[in-house]
Amino acid sequence: MKRVEPEVFLAARPQADYDVIASYLREVGGESWLERLDRDQLDNDAQNLAEFAGKMCYRSWEPGLNPNVRRVRDDQARYLENILRSGHGSVLEHVSFTFVLHNVSRVLSHELVRHRPGTAVSQESLRFVRLDELPFWFPDWAREDPELMKRATALLTEMEEFQAWMAGHFRLDDDGVKMHEKKHKTSFMRRFAPDGVATGLVWTANVRALRHTIEARTDPGAEEEIRLVFGKIGEIMRAEAPALFGDYQVTDGAWVPGWRKVLRARGLTAASGSRRTSGRAAS
Ligand SMILES: Cc1cc2nc3c(=O)[nH]c(=O)nc-3n(C[C@H](O)[C@H](O)[C@H](O)COP(=O)(O)OP(=O)(O)OC[C@H]3O[C@@H](n4cnc5c(N)ncnc54)[C@H](O)[C@@H]3O)c2cc1C
Repeated sequence: MKRVEPEVFLAARPQADYDVIASYLREVGGESWLERLDRDQLDNDAQNLAEFAGKMCYRSWEPGLNPNVRRVRDDQARYLENILRSGHGSVLEHVSFTFVLHNVSRVLSHELVRHRPGTAVSQESLRFVRLDELPFWFPDWAREDPELMKRATALLTEMEEFQAWMAGHFRLDDDGVKMHEKKHKTSFMRRFAPDGVATGLVWTANVRALRHTIEARTDPGAEEEIRLVFGKIGEIMRAEAPALFGDYQVTDGAWVPGWRKVLRARGLTAASGSRRTSGRAAS
């Protein structure tokens, strides 16, 4: 048994192609928006992409492109806050991040896959990847209980030995054993691994889905491992895109947004109860 810690790696973030955006804006007007990004040294692609997509809606990169729009917001942080406040959720869906969740259990992955829209999952296959040692995470409170640790370690060691025994018994490492047979038996063998066995997955989510899952999975009622992992994801996202994640208040590990995902676009209180959605349009 190998003791492990759940870890989160940010593997990919959005990359805007400013040359292509410039070509497009030359067609429709609005190049001054790119000049503003340069002037204000706004080089956060995730935030720039969200602003670009939002400004597409009303052609509001600059005043005058749309005769109905006389004034535009030219402060990115305030513009994006207004997007969050007014519940303009599709804008957030253009911006995706990819994470490797390393040494997370199947307890976590069962729960994570319940979140479907705006996400993608590729999980290590324990049908193909044979278990030998059983990586396992123990929370601090469990580590502090010597009798629990003694019994848990003995149980996991026995399960590990059984994995090794089965591999030998099924002669999986003999020459010429076909992949089909290995897969068949490896899948049987994984049934004797605990739900808590640490494994890994690649998880991609757009900002709308991220905002929702960070809130749901750091809630005090959520499971402790997924709370730990989504606390890490929240920290990463707040550093990556402060204008899209800076509205959370974190209390005892619970991430409560100032503005909720677009479930309640108009008139209902935000999660904290401290602010109300205005329903105002985002220009
Ligand atoms: C603390 C906690 C405890 C939980 N306990 C249990 C439990 O005991 N048993 C259990 O089975 N589950 C449990 N869950 C899982 C929960 O029921 C949800 O399935 C899970 O949180 C996914 O969230 P979501 O429903 O918001 O969907 P997501 O997939 O995250 O979707 C986000 C939003 O998109 C919309 N949406 C998504 N799919 C549809 C659709 N098909 N049609 C219309 N609108 C859609 C909804 O507005 C939804 O809120 C728990 C979750 C949490 C956070």
